[in-house]
Amino acid sequence: MANPNVRVRFCPSPTGNPHVGLVRTALFNWAFARHNGGTMVFRIEDTDAARDSEESYRQLLDSLRWLGLDWDEGPEAGGPHAPYRQSERMGIYAEIADRLLAAGRAYRCYCTTEELDARREAARAAGRPSGYDGQCRDLTDGQRAAYEAEGRAAIVRFRMPDEPITFTDLVRGELTFTPENVPDYGIVRANGAPLYTLVNPVDDALMEITHVLRGEDLLSSTPRQIALYQALIDLGVAKEIPAFGHLPYVMGEGNKKLSKRDPQSSLNLYRERGFLPEGLLNYLSLLGWSFSADQDVFSVAELVERFDIADVNANPARFDLKKAEAINADHIRRLDVAAFTAACEPWLTAPFANWEPERFDRTAWEAIAPYAQTRLTVLSDITANVDFLFRAEPVEDEASWAKAMKPGAAELLVTAREKLAAADWESPEALKEAVLAAGEAHGLKLGKAQAPVRVAVTGRTVGLPLFESLQILGAERTLARIDAALAGLAREAAAQDA
Ligand code: GLU
Ligand code: ZN
Repeated sequence: MANPNVRVRFCPSPTGNPHVGLVRTALFNWAFARHNGGTMVFRIEDTDAARDSEESYRQLLDSLRWLGLDWDEGPEAGGPHAPYRQSERMGIYAEIADRLLAAGRAYRCYCTTEELDARREAARAAGRPSGYDGQCRDLTDGQRAAYEAEGRAAIVRFRMPDEPITFTDLVRGELTFTPENVPDYGIVRANGAPLYTLVNPVDDALMEITHVLRGEDLLSSTPRQIALYQALIDLGVAKEIPAFGHLPYVMGEGNKKLSKRDPQSSLNLYRERGFLPEGLLNYLSLLGWSFSADQDVFSVAELVERFDIADVNANPARFDLKKAEAINADHIRRLDVAAFTAACEPWLTAPFANWEPERFDRTAWEAIAPYAQTRLTVLSDITANVDFLFRAEPVEDEASWAKAMKPGAAELLVTAREKLAAADWESPEALKEAVLAAGEAHGLKLGKAQAPVRVAVTGRTVGLPLFESLQILGAERTLARIDAALAGLAREAAAQDA
């Protein structure tokens, strides 16, 4: 059932390039919001000036727009809870930290890193829980004054409740965390800078987020956030604890977690290779979710119609590049021809095109495009498939040449040239008959006979349907290329004899 009160958030930190895990999180939030007719909030968690960058921020916006994942509130869109960049909300966090301190829900901790390390080691050696031991929980005014007099800096630590915390994860069901496993934790650094542990739940509360959907790596922060939320409710800042759903890990090669540093996980890579946004979204939605038992290719509209967080699987998902490509190929086939030709455009111009721009021939392109559309897995493959039409000469690919120009190739090409010259160029079928007949004359099946023709004309052993390609290239240029190949073979033979 649709629930228009749903408010989800996508709240990345602008560090590095957008990666697959991040996009999967954005997608699941977006699909859940759109499925419910709810609200998608986009917030930028840029409180770490040392790591955050403006470039990364721009890339995030650009990537979401390319994918078509729109947001109702957030950067550039605005909204009732603006600003949506945490770097512009510092005053809010300082005030809340003060209120938590005043209410005794947080306290100043004066322990130095060395002291904390030493106590952690000792606890570990004694087999006790090694998290923060609560030493500064109940300092007297005198003790506090003494520390201050020593010139010690204090962080602000949140006081966790002494009871276990239980919640029902939307993906993993009921989970309980005991106090030993969730010690008091820092929310503001000694220099006054608020930490993720504070700003993230505070903003979720202020922005009235109802569902927190995010990666499993953040599961351990959930009991802390629930406790902080409870404190915010008691202070009158928050209304209700949101529901949490933790999306499964994505595994890469060798069953290791896909890391954002893996080249396979870079969103830009997929974009540059010519994945369609809808192809990539389709594939990413299958990382932890499934559309139905017998269908894994679907449109974004179908995804939105069906998506529910309750159907997300807790088991790790495996990133399968081959499957991603196959799904993308299906989406390429689903485009109408005009959309397909338009989508290929970037790869038919600089810096990808390997021909003089003025040689591009739109009529030839439009004639060949339908044959390409059923064969590409990624759009960037288009360049190599059609360059024979736009180059003065075919590319020189030594491996293809060596493979196709075996002994007997010259004889075959001579006959093929003769038959092609006499053929009816109005019909690809007639061109096929010509090459077939040439093959027969030399005891070769069609496959073997067409290989040298293809390499002579396109430079490559693989490509689009040959006879349609020849027809679009035209008789004159086809025959001239066969002549050029024959001349090349003659030079090779002469060099060998010498
Ligand atoms: N800024 C956090 C991150 O990128 C958000 C985590 C969350 O969704 O709570 O990891
Ligand atoms: Zn302390």
